[in-house]
Formats: sequence, structure tokens, C-alpha cells
Amino acid sequence: MRLGVWGLVGLWMLGGIAQVASAETWLCPNCENRVERAPDAPTLDCGECGSFTAEDLSWIVGYLNYKTRSAETSFLVSPEECDRFRQDGLQAFGESRELIWIPWTAVDYFIPRQRIVRLIDGREFTTDYARTRGAPCPAPPKFLFQIADTIRIEGQKDRVVTQDLEDDISTLFVISGSEKGLHAGITRFIEEVEAGNHPRLPRTDNKVTRPTVAQMPTSLRGKNLDKTVTVKVRGERSGQLLELALVKSSGLDDLDQAAIRAARSTGLSTAGEMGVGVPSTVLLHYHFKGDACTVEAEIPKNSIWQN
Ligand SMILES: [Zn+2]
Repeated sequence: MRLGVWGLVGLWMLGGIAQVASAETWLCPNCENRVERAPDAPTLDCGECGSFTAEDLSWIVGYLNYKTRSAETSFLVSPEECDRFRQDGLQAFGESRELIWIPWTAVDYFIPRQRIVRLIDGREFTTDYARTRGAPCPAPPKFLFQIADTIRIEGQKDRVVTQDLEDDISTLFVISGSEKGLHAGITRFIEEVEAGNHPRLPRTDNKVTRPTVAQMPTSLRGKNLDKTVTVKVRGERSGQLLELALVKSSGLDDLDQAAIRAARSTGLSTAGEMGVGVPSTVLLHYHFKGDACTVEAEIPKNSIWQN
């Protein structure tokens, strides 16, 4: 009997919640109107602009930036346990923290890690974190994409290494429906970090963890040289070398080669941006004096956001 009563209360509560959720507030993708839309309604109907189907509200292709590298993906949103992201839009907060649904086609860029949604018309909204423990978004939608890195090693032919990745929206730096929007979003992402707007997740530069000194080539010993060779090394978190280039030659090929060999075995720690490891660059200055060599590491100002 008692159980029966609780069962009834439970049903009544579920009914009540369903009723509260029955009207969603959406932004029209075309004007500034807010439109009430029933969940699962096939169209979004704006009194001024007419009806929009799910296809009118969704991107076909998504342009994304994953840990400073850009890629394209089919834009298919199918969250497992999250109702903040759907194929036709994402949930954000209005001025008074009211919940509002924004069609993807109204979005210029979305920066999940900074909780910024910028619309094509310039309006901005905030979101909650794209991944939260427990309700309401423990499992944000995943995207399949391919990251291509061009490996440039001095003295070797360039080669492209591709990785197939599957990761969720909370890990993406920027997401957009156009290349232009993606670039605007990347610029914004950098500005936000530079402005210190994310103090709990500062940028960390990479470090040389194992500096390697070059050996003076036998052919050049005893010549009382005073030369410098600068080598640029770009590496990824996994230890993958992305670029190794001679930036400043000594004018002596043997000396340059000795510096390049040393640079290859230099240990680098990963840089971090918004709490995740990203590729980054270090300049290694090899000073050859007499028969000795010293190395000095320099982290360039824009060591992270470069190709
Ligand atoms: Zn409208």
C-alpha cells in the first residue's frame, strides 16, 4: 500500500517535470526573436521568418580545432547521456541565466573550454561546461576526425602523418560551421588566454627536460671556432617530433649537422593550453667556442599556436 502511494507520487512528479520541460525557448536562426518550441517538434516556427526544419538548423560539416590543430568532420550530434547538445542546436544561458536553445546555423563559433557561444550576428551567450560529472552532461557527443601533421625534418623529405581521432565536444578548442568562423574562434581563444580570463587553467610553456650538447666534429677540432647554430624543434605530447629545422647556420656544414643531431635527441616536456597538452616549439642555440659546446634553449613567444 505504501509502495503504491510512493509510486503515484513518483508518476505525478515525472508528469510535473515533463510539463515544465514542455516548452523550450529557442533563438530564431534568422532574426532576434525568441521562439517557444515543443520538444521533438519537427520545425522551429518563427512568427516573422517562417518554419525551419532540422536541416535548416544544423551544420553539415563541422570545422574544429583540437589542441591547436584544425580538422573537418561530418557534423553528426548524437549524445549518449546529454541533452545540452542536439543535432539542431545547443543549450546556453541567456542574460538572466535562463535556458535557451541556439540553432547551430546561428553560431559563428563555440569554444567549449571557455564556455563561449558567439553568434553570426555578434550576440554572445555562455554555456555550462560541456562535460559534467553526473547530470546533465556526463557524455557529450563525440566526433570522428583526422588530424594531419606534416613532419619536417632537416635533410629529409617532408611526410604527412595522420591520426584518426574520436573525441568529445568538451575536448575541442573551437567548433564552427565555417572555416572563417573557426579562424575567428581560434583568435578569440588565444585572446581569452592572453587576457588571463581563465586563471585556473593557465598556459604552460614547454621545457627542455634533457638538454643535449653537440660534439665538436673531429674535422673542426683545434681551430678555435666561435660559432652559433640555431635549430628549431617542434614536438608533440606523445614525443613525436613534428619539425626540426636549421634556423641559423654556422656556415660550416659539419657543425650544423652536429647541432641537428644533438637537437634530435633533446628531451622536451609538453606545453599546455587550457589544461591539455599541445604541440609546441623550442629554439636551441648551440654555441661552439674553442672545442666546447654549450646549448641555450629559448621558448619563442608564440610557441604553441603555430603550424
Ligand atoms: Zn525569425
